[in-house]
Amino acid sequence: MMRTYSAGRVHTGDGRVFAPGKVMVDGQGTILSAATAAGESWDPDYLGEGTVLCPGFINAHTHLELSWMHGRIEKGLGLDHFIRSVAALRREIPVEAIRQAAMQSALNEMLVSGTVAAGDIANGLSGLELKREKEIRWHTFIELFGSHEGEAEDHFRRGMELRAAFRDMGDSSLVPHAPYSVSVPLLDRILAQAGAEQAILSMHHQENPAETEYYLHGSGPVALRLEDMGIPLPPAFPAGRRPLEFILSRMPVARRLLLVHNTYATAEDMEAARGSATPLSWVLCPRANLYIEGRLPDVELLMQKGAEIALGTDSLASNDDLSMVQEMKVLQAHFPWLTLDTLIPWATLHGARALGMEQELGSLQPGKRPGLLCLDGIVDGRIGAGTRIRRLG
Ligand SMILES: [Zn+2]
Repeated sequence: MMRTYSAGRVHTGDGRVFAPGKVMVDGQGTILSAATAAGESWDPDYLGEGTVLCPGFINAHTHLELSWMHGRIEKGLGLDHFIRSVAALRREIPVEAIRQAAMQSALNEMLVSGTVAAGDIANGLSGLELKREKEIRWHTFIELFGSHEGEAEDHFRRGMELRAAFRDMGDSSLVPHAPYSVSVPLLDRILAQAGAEQAILSMHHQENPAETEYYLHGSGPVALRLEDMGIPLPPAFPAGRRPLEFILSRMPVARRLLLVHNTYATAEDMEAARGSATPLSWVLCPRANLYIEGRLPDVELLMQKGAEIALGTDSLASNDDLSMVQEMKVLQAHFPWLTLDTLIPWATLHGARALGMEQELGSLQPGKRPGLLCLDGIVDGRIGAGTRIRRLG
């Protein structure tokens, strides 16, 4: 059955705004049209003042697997402390039932808060069964670590095995954890695979200044960690280049790369990106950045440099919940000039493009089935304490 909804504003996700606007969908949730409306209070389809219609949210970066670590890591102590805490907690491994229950509740939270697709990092099999949940479309990033050059082939093979297990759970690809936590042979193996399969790549990027120090000078906490593990400084280091520049020079042609966090990304990184043939998605996880490092990326500079920005929540190990609206709200609180006109495309179409799902999701384009959300309680274009989300389709 066809339905029409009209609201104070309609944000289509691709940058168009109708105020007031209306959206027509069929019984399967396929968009039939989005257009200007009269917005009269007598109109039975009118959802009222302060309502916004938009497509379902795309969470470009999360780690369902880490859901059970919710509230277990102290805030504001930096990335090094965070990584050590995650590693220590991993050794603790709770009973599988606790792990599964935490993931199930995280998944419910994602659904209730309007998420329709997610880029989810997996290091193991624990999230596998949950991904039978087809209300969310998944791209599973099988994440590899491994600083020892001689072990690159083993890490890669284990990654391919893990990935085979996720075969029926949506899209998937093998990705490096971060520029500093994979050896060059392992990085090259992953990149070659992405080239062969036309796969999407993702990595944590500029979450901490140590990454750049290691690349430019071969020193700092990353070099010390290698020393602790008894691994000599690899021949390629110091690379004398920033991590992004180094990785872009090795990328397979025209494969998309998601850069996650970018808390310490500089104008040089953004310039290097502009000169490259690699399509990049700069994925911001603002609440996780505040949780771990107590700072945010230079959003204004990213915008000036033409970066395509998408949003993610990261995991419950470094966040209070997995709601995309809360990420937008925090961005508005820190950058008051950010309007929903800008933020909604980041949370929808840009995320869909990051995950290669823009044909079906991310905008209220006729023919797509992107999910339809109603945000209530938007005052002067701002997300506030009273903002609520309803899924309409
Ligand atoms: Zn992450």
